[in-house]
Amino acid sequence: MKENITGMMVYYYFVCKRKLWYFCHEITMETENEDVLLGKLLDESSYKKNDKHISIDQIINIDFMKECGELHEVKKSKSVEEAGIWQMKYYLYYLQQRGVTGMKGKIDYPLLKKTMSVELTDEDCGEIEKIICEITQIKKRNIPPDDCNKKICKKCAYYDLCFI
Ligand code: SF4
Repeated sequence: MKENITGMMVYYYFVCKRKLWYFCHEITMETENEDVLLGKLLDESSYKKNDKHISIDQIINIDFMKECGELHEVKKSKSVEEAGIWQMKYYLYYLQQRGVTGMKGKIDYPLLKKTMSVELTDEDCGEIEKIICEITQIKKRNIPPDDCNKKICKKCAYYDLCFI
């Protein structure tokens, strides 16, 4: 918490550590990327009845919330499913640290018409603390880590920066 670790950083930590480093250093190349544009379109066209984009302390940005205490994160595919799960666990962890307990997490895949429930366990809290330390170390680096996730590289907004 002290290091201002955002939900997006936790997401990128699982997607690609190099991408995380770019993001932490405010190197952005997301606007023209087709995959990013599809995500924005999906965001604008789905779940219109709910209040969307709830930002808490500018650290976590919840896609939308339901009155029953459900936090929702919308993803377009399951290609980096683990990253989305840990992003949601981090939201639950962050709120728990602020004294807000009993919340539930859901990840929605509108294109797949699927929803996944996410819970936060005591074990997860320990894991998140380790992840926060590692993200803090990555943020402090002067050069990006060598991490290279070839499966997703071709669709990544940073492809040109990494490979050309
Ligand atoms: S192109 Fe690949 S290595 Fe570079 S930031 Fe994107 S996912 Fe990471």
